[in-house]
Amino acid sequence: MSFLVKNYNRKQISFKRGKGAYLYTANNIKYLDFVQGIAVNCLGHANPKLIKTIKDQAKKLWHVSNAFQIPEGEQLAKKLCQKTFADYVMFQNSGAEATEAAIKVARRYFYSIGKPHKNRILCVKNSFHGRTIASIFASGSKKMTEGFGPKVPGFDHFIFGDHKSLKKKINKNTAAIMVENIMGEGGIKVIPDFCLRELRKLCNKKKILLIADSVQDGVGRSGDFFAFERSKIKPDIVPIAKGIGGGFPIGAVLMNKKVAAGMTPGTHGSTFGGNPLAMAVGNKVMDIVSSKKFLDNVKNSSKYLLSNLNFLKEKYPKIIKEIRGRGLLIGIQLHRDQSVFINKLLDNKLLTIRAAENVVRILPPLNVKKYELDQALKIIHKVCKDFK
Ligand SMILES: *Cc1c(COP(=O)(O)O)cnc(C)c1O
Repeated sequence: MSFLVKNYNRKQISFKRGKGAYLYTANNIKYLDFVQGIAVNCLGHANPKLIKTIKDQAKKLWHVSNAFQIPEGEQLAKKLCQKTFADYVMFQNSGAEATEAAIKVARRYFYSIGKPHKNRILCVKNSFHGRTIASIFASGSKKMTEGFGPKVPGFDHFIFGDHKSLKKKINKNTAAIMVENIMGEGGIKVIPDFCLRELRKLCNKKKILLIADSVQDGVGRSGDFFAFERSKIKPDIVPIAKGIGGGFPIGAVLMNKKVAAGMTPGTHGSTFGGNPLAMAVGNKVMDIVSSKKFLDNVKNSSKYLLSNLNFLKEKYPKIIKEIRGRGLLIGIQLHRDQSVFINKLLDNKLLTIRAAENVVRILPPLNVKKYELDQALKIIHKVCKDFK
């Protein structure tokens, strides 16, 4: 029997080791892993450079405290700021912590300029920002909040794509609009570039902040370092996590100077956040993933995968409804429930994961090879062919 709480619906399979895009069971059965810890292992499993980095740092120093200077964190923050819109960075350990901290930064900003009534966060209905008590109420999802009342106040919701409802929901107490650039759990729904630009304009006009949750679509996953870069906008606050640690838990909140000014000593903290071991790994991931050559390669892999998946959609229009996504954050939307399809892919040694709206989510490592994409496409084709 298992002594683990049953809060997950786990597949009856476990793995002994991984290498790049592949996972191996104890019996050495090989699986092509296009889940990668849910968009976390951006460099695949057991990346030699990350192994060396973590080994070297483990011998020197793991953890001190944010009571002291942490040069490795200074370094990573500098790299993140030089590469992006951000002026300052605050380190956390996970995505939910980063989105919660983002909310704190937004509220604290308005408090610090003498407008404490501006504290409400406007979010997309059925979005995903993590599983802490505040972030589940930010999502506005009935399923995630059921049984976890009382309701955390301070969140309003608008319907994805419904611009009228969005404008109607902004009031004098609104502090920020928080969106995922690409809704991950919600079914790989991309906010079009022109909508992001309008969103930025709207926030400017209403003098409110824009929080772009980039926990899943950030750090190269979309083919750009940040998904919102393509629209040329600058958000005010950006939580990241998943990819930045390459499998090691790291979260962070990136922000501009204006809002960072509210975060004076003592306003926020984390025991583990930004410790030397995490920061060493983060620096290495950042060095690799932020290069133009690496990101160009993600774009090329994406183009190849998307065009071939669209070809399958044309061939099997009764099974595949739509191919969604950008970069290597891709969804195959089926006409009906996707769980049988995902199990068939698993039977054929391809690991994928669900998202809402009947979507099969495909998350290869960002350094995936062409033959690995071909292997996955072949399996998806076979499952489509045999699918009743
Ligand atoms: C995964 C995710 C989170 C939460 O991250 P955790 O590390 O699981 O807490 C928040 N926002 C988005 C968009 C995510 O995809």
